[in-house]
This record gives sequence, structure tokens and C-alpha cells, in this order.
Amino acid sequence: MKNNLKKLTKLRSILGVTCGVSVLTITLSSLGSFQSLELSTLDRWFRLRPPESKERRIVVVTIDESDINQLEQWPISDETLSQLITKISRQEPRAIGLDLYRDIPVKPGTEKLAAVLRSTPNLVGIEKAIDDKVKPSPILEEQGQIALADLVIDPDQVVRRGLLSIQLENNKVQLGLAARLALMYLAAEGVELEAVENKASRALGKSVFVPFESNDGGYVRADAGGFQILLNFRGTENSFQQVSIFDVLTGNIPQDLMSDRLVIIGSTAQSLNDFFAIPYSSNRGGKPQYLPGVLIHANLASQIISAALDGRQLIKVVNEPVEWLWIVTWTGLGSAIGFILSNNNSFDNENLSLLKFMTIGLVFPGIIVLGSSYLLFLAGWWLPAIAPCGALFLAILAASSYQQQKEKKLAFIDGLTQIPNRRFFDQFLSEHWSKSQKKQQTLCVILCDVDFFKKYNDTYGHQAGDVCLQKVAKVISKAIRSNDLAARYGGEEFVVVLPNATPEIAIMIAKRICDRLRKLQIPHASSRASKFVSISCGIATTHDHMVSSSDYLVAHADRALYLAKEQGRDRYILVD
Ligand code: GH3
Ligand code: MG
Ligand code: MG
Repeated sequence: MKNNLKKLTKLRSILGVTCGVSVLTITLSSLGSFQSLELSTLDRWFRLRPPESKERRIVVVTIDESDINQLEQWPISDETLSQLITKISRQEPRAIGLDLYRDIPVKPGTEKLAAVLRSTPNLVGIEKAIDDKVKPSPILEEQGQIALADLVIDPDQVVRRGLLSIQLENNKVQLGLAARLALMYLAAEGVELEAVENKASRALGKSVFVPFESNDGGYVRADAGGFQILLNFRGTENSFQQVSIFDVLTGNIPQDLMSDRLVIIGSTAQSLNDFFAIPYSSNRGGKPQYLPGVLIHANLASQIISAALDGRQLIKVVNEPVEWLWIVTWTGLGSAIGFILSNNNSFDNENLSLLKFMTIGLVFPGIIVLGSSYLLFLAGWWLPAIAPCGALFLAILAASSYQQQKEKKLAFIDGLTQIPNRRFFDQFLSEHWSKSQKKQQTLCVILCDVDFFKKYNDTYGHQAGDVCLQKVAKVISKAIRSNDLAARYGGEEFVVVLPNATPEIAIMIAKRICDRLRKLQIPHASSRASKFVSISCGIATTHDHMVSSSDYLVAHADRALYLAKEQGRDRYILVD
């Protein structure tokens, strides 16, 4: 019975800590406190993940620094571009993406390029439609062969999301470059976009694309405009086949390199500054590695194609209530660990306990939370890692300090009467003794002893005696002022300490104790003092300036109590 009750209170404490810490963590999390840490943890998962095979379906035609030097032109002329497109077209790729702005002509060769653009229906050019807009090539626009070059950049300047489409002002849906190219690539295999029951999502081959929402994963109130998805990077430069524009122009590439593939043309020259930070661009260990925009488009196109054809994972997220449940679960585990650790007696040795506490209590659980987040990431799920980790630590600390606090408190409470015990009284008295000496205030002590209590036990039994003591303790505790102390002194003796009280106040309280107990009318047939349980009180005060220590004060009270007993009990006496 008692054991069950103990278990129940422990469970209640665990639940209490779990609730408190969960609410705090979820509030902090929804205020965005963890966002940047969550995002950099996601970046870390990308870097930790084993590399994937090279994307064979995409060829990136790069314009790098040496190309610009060899061609001695930038932007490359319409003449050169028309030659490039013609050479690529001859290899019959499924689609060609031109990730170069071509809003104004670059002579010479403008007429020739116009003719090439008009005769290459599988070529897609770009425009920039968000913020600093850049117009598309007029010819390609006329032919409807334009897609968006816009990238989604997070507040920390890292690209983690891809833009599949946006709705333009004229209500027309404009696809992003990668999405447009991927769809052209897939159309050749008969794979097409389909609506699904959930109105916003789109099915494509083996996968369903769900639009990014502003609180997905570790994001808080992110801009979720258009149709975005979380980028599931295949990798950096090494993950894509690249050839330089110079090699294509000089025919220095295999004959069938591009046939039936997706080709994207873009600049990778440092001087053109089209570079972006991605999860792989860790600042640690020297210069951060940025990725040219064209390879970000290649990553997104690769992600769409491999999701549709191979069923390669997209990064999935759970809805917010499930995220909360995830946090609450770790918090619950943390508070349970905290309670178990602080209950463990082997943690009594303080030096050992701290070290053990740190390893068993913090490092180990931390590794488990982060490890599970990483494993989930490998399985295609992005769940917060930092919020549950923080919640777990906080819950462990809160639960163990709560438990220690409770134990400390228990050490000062009398088990039977649930009022402070002798130990607490000793501390309280010495504290207030010094205080009253300093402030020159009067300190009073009342010692109370139940009359003929041995006889009460003999008459009614020890258990009834216990109940009686509980009632007496209650009477005394309720008779004092808010800053006074009523404690069990030992056996059937109680003590009251009255800081800053005049002898009159002490007398009033002693009288109140005697009167109220009398009024309770607890039968005591074998008492020679009364028909009911009664109490005798001895009062001592520092008022007469004769008391030199707190021990003396208690001794005086004891002497007064003795006199009260001698004079017939059921009374209070103040010694002068
Ligand atoms: P007096 O009026 O002179 O104080 O007589 P008394 O019988 O109360 O005094 P005495 O010191 O002879 O006996 C105290 C009794 O209180 C003896 C002991 O069995 C009883 N007692 C002490 N602690 C407890 C307790 O926790 N529970 C119960 N039931 N009895 C207790
Ligand atoms: Mg006694
Ligand atoms: Mg007694």
C-alpha cells in the first residue's frame, strides 16, 4: 500500500517534470530558438552520410576560368553559344538547360543563335522572377522555353531547399529550371506529374512530392512560397559528370556522352561568383566549399529524377504534433533517468557522482538522441535533434535536482506528524538566535509536552497514540504565526520558536495551544489532569537579558515545562 503510494508520487513527479520541460522546450522551439542549431545539425547529417554513386543521367557543361581565358570572352558570344548548343543537340540529349542569363544579345552571331534557339525545342533558358529580376531570352520566352533560376537561400546563406515552381503575377505556374528539365527527361519514359488526393502534393513516378511548409523539420516560420522541397543533395562536384565548354566546342568528348541524358550548361568560374553555401560547405577545416548554382540545379534535377525512377528518398518531415510527441518522449525519458540517477545511492560520493552523472546522465543520452535523429535521417526523415536533446538534458537535470531537493526537504520533516523535525529546529534556532542577537530582538521558545501520554498509549494503544500526536502537531502548527516554527522535539514533546516576539505574544500562543487542544476533546480516561488529552507548556524568552545562549533558552523553557507539570499540568508557565 505504502509502496504503491510511493510509486504513484514518483510517477507524478516524473510527469510533472516532463510536462514542465516539454512545454518550455516546445515554446522555445516554436519561437525559433533552436532553428540555426537544427539546420546546422541537418548539414552535419548530410556530411556524415555515406556518399552516393555518381549521377549518370546528367551531364553538366561548365564554363570555368580556363574556358573564359581560352575563349577570351565573357559573356560568351552568341556565335560561341550557338555552336555549343548545336554540338550538344547533335548528341541528342533529352533536354538541355541553359543556366546563363541571355536577356540581351552578345554580338557577333546573334542571328545564328536566334535560328538555333528556334530549332531546339528541348532547350530551356532561365529567368529570375524573385527579388532582383532578370528577364528571359525573348525568343525562348516567346516559345515558352523558360524556367526559373531562383534559388531558396536560408537566413544563414545556405541553400537547403529547391524551388519546383511558383505562381507568376499572371497566375501562370512557372517551373524551376531543375523541375522543368527533370520533367522533360522523365516524359521520355512516360513518367508524368499526377495530382494526388492531398491537393497540394504531386505524384511523379515512384514518389510523391509534398510542398515544403514553413515549420517543417527544424524550420520556424520559413518562407514557404511557391512549391519548394527540401534538397536531398546527391553530393558536390564529384557527384556529377562535368565537361568543359572548351572540350565540347573542340569535340574533345565521347560521341555519346550526352545522348539520351540531361544536359545543363552553366558557369563554374570563380570570377563569375555564382556560388552558394550548401550543407557540405562546412566552415571547419579551412576554406568553406561553395557550390556553383548550376550544380545546385543539377542536384535538384537529380533528386527529382531518381525519386521518380528509383524511388530514392525525399526528405520527409512529420507534422507538428508528432514533432511535439518526439520532444515529449525524450523529455519523459530524461526525467525518468534523472530520478533513477538521483535515487542511486552510489552517487553519494560527490566527486564520483558528478563524473558519473555527466557520463551516464548527459553524454550517453545525448548520443542516443543525436544518434536516433541521424538514423532517422538516413531513413529519409528529418526530425528535430537539438530540441529533444536540450529537453532531455534539462529533464535529467530538473528531475535529479527536484529529487535531491525533495530528499533534502524530507530529511527535515518528521515522518509521523509531517511537521519539521528536531534537526530543522536546531538549525532554525541557531539561525534566529544570531539574528535576534544582532537585531536586539526578543526570541521566545515554548516547549510543549503531552500530559500522561504513557498512560494514553497504555489505555488506547500505540497506534491511537500516533494519531493523537498527529492531532496535537496540527493544533500547535496552526496556533503559531507565519514566521514562527513548530517542530517535533522528540517523543510526545514539541517545540515552538517565536522570532521577534514579546513575552505577551509567547503567552498568547501557548494559551492558544492549550485552549485549542482542550477544545478538541480527545478522550483520555486515564489522565489525572483532565478527561481529555491536555498539554503543558514551558515558555522562555530572551527578554530578561539573562540568557547567554540558545541552549540556555531551551533549558529555561524545559525548566518552565517542569514547573507546569509540577503545578498540575494542562497549563503554561513563563519563567522569569
Ligand atoms: P507526563 O505528563 O509527565 O509528560 O507523562 P508522560 O506519560 O506523558 O511522560 P513520559 O515521558 O513518561 O512518557 C512519554 C510517552 O510517550 C512514552 C512513550 O511511549 C510515548 N511516546 C513517545 N513517542 C511516541 C510516539 O511516537 N508514538 C506513541 N504512540 N507514543 C510515543
Ligand atoms: Mg515527555
Ligand atoms: Mg508527557
